[in-house]
Amino acid sequence: MPKTQPIRAARGVRDILPAERAAFAVAEHAAHESARRYGYQEVELPIIEPVELIERGVGRDSDVAGKELYRLEPHADGDAEAASRLVLRPEATASMVRAYFQGGLNQGPQPVRLFTVGQMFRHDKPQHLRYRQFVQFDVEVIGNPSPAYDVEVIELTWGWLEAMGIGQISLELNSIGDANCRPQYLDALREYYRPLRDRLHPECQRRVEENPLRLFDCKEPQCQPFKAAAPRITDHLCAPCAAAFEEVKSLLDAAGLEYRLNPYLVRGLDYYTRTVFEYQHESLGGAQNSLGGGGRYDGLAADLGYPDTPGVGFAGGVDRVAHMLQSELGAVTPPPAAEVLVLPMGEGLDRAAAGVGRACRGVRSTAVDYSARSLGAKMRAADKSGARWAAIMNADEAERRVVQLRDLVSGDQREVAWDQLPEALA
Ligand code: AMP
Repeated sequence: MPKTQPIRAARGVRDILPAERAAFAVAEHAAHESARRYGYQEVELPIIEPVELIERGVGRDSDVAGKELYRLEPHADGDAEAASRLVLRPEATASMVRAYFQGGLNQGPQPVRLFTVGQMFRHDKPQHLRYRQFVQFDVEVIGNPSPAYDVEVIELTWGWLEAMGIGQISLELNSIGDANCRPQYLDALREYYRPLRDRLHPECQRRVEENPLRLFDCKEPQCQPFKAAAPRITDHLCAPCAAAFEEVKSLLDAAGLEYRLNPYLVRGLDYYTRTVFEYQHESLGGAQNSLGGGGRYDGLAADLGYPDTPGVGFAGGVDRVAHMLQSELGAVTPPPAAEVLVLPMGEGLDRAAAGVGRACRGVRSTAVDYSARSLGAKMRAADKSGARWAAIMNADEAERRVVQLRDLVSGDQREVAWDQLPEALA
């Protein structure tokens, strides 16, 4: 009989094991701290959302909604949900705007500053630092159009990266205009690209008419030569958009944040208006060098069927930040599984060992090795685990209610009474 194949995780998703989880915890803690310092409040949003929310939010033509969406099968009981199909969320901004209205946050003082850290899902081609399930730190300010909030979000998220020691971040900045000036610009862009259509790769040929801004997202070598001479959105901004862009730049200067203007930065989602920005880091290399990005989305609320309400936000890649902390900076040492290991030697000691472990846990993380191995084997395992102390319980000593407490770093060993252990370990 052939054995059953061992079951492995689905393609493109992974387990975050203890060594890596420690780096995630650092990134998430820094996210909470940075957001709180600016007065942002945490929310938790559903991972499943109606497909319309995502399609109308990020745009049907975006990769995120078009090719990469995880769609759930309608449930067999055919409830109302089945009609409005559900998806695993690929990003959090549309959900955040939905929650802002649905929860009545639009009725209170404005703007509302929110953040969340959570799992996102995209059926993308799996590769290094690009996963099908990943974690984003998401920050949003909803309810005010001032460019000062754009810069606040940038300053907060820059501070997040800096607080973790991630230096040499490059901040790229652009404005993609609004419903006023973008249509004319898109016409100019189409006009420029139409004669070049045959020389573009098939997907970009389609984009010329359907979504010309996306032409700038293209990484195909054959399409690159035409970008340089293409009309630039920043030369086609209407007066209010141009003024807002100037204000963003001047506030960034005042905050001492360096940025690089990138007229090709359009970001993959349809909802952006005016400011868009992105953080990149050389060390990540290649197509996966973006640590996070965001922008203003003044038309999103209306696209979702809510009253016209401006907003600005950011999404940062926690997996990528954790990778940098661990691999590039070596900044995170995972804590040992337990600082103290209790080693009962011999039968009938489990109950006493459990009691000793319980007492130690008052002051130190403690595990009990209940296995029936030799002292040598248990000591080797204790050393390997990174524990600081071993509390060795021999049968005769258990009767006297004492252990041998060994410092695994210095090698010092002494007899300690059970009830003195918390004091000895503190
Ligand atoms: P986006 O929502 O596409 O603007 O992504 C914002 C950030 O999330 C990116 O800069 C990445 O750091 C991270 N990110 C996006 N997609 C993935 C993915 N498939 N795997 C890991 N991180 C991702």
